[in-house]
Amino acid sequence: MAVPKRRLSHSKTRTRRSHHFETAMQFAVCANCKSPIPSHVACPNCGMYKGRQVMDVTKKLRKIEDKRKAKANAS
Ligand SMILES: [Zn+2]
Repeated sequence: MAVPKRRLSHSKTRTRRSHHFETAMQFAVCANCKSPIPSHVACPNCGMYKGRQVMDVTKKLRKIEDKRKAKANAS
């Protein structure tokens, strides 16, 4: 197995890691509901992407509501 010939100095390690930082996420504005959304992602608020409906955002809410009703009926 290949083995490094010399140990890396702290400076060399830190210089390499100087690029290992996170940058703030860039947000676009939804054309439909004007809420800030990450670019190239369907809007989590209204479910629109490039002017068409791509996901049902009420599905999750309905599921939660059904669960709550079932719980209320049980007790
Ligand atoms: Zn939207």
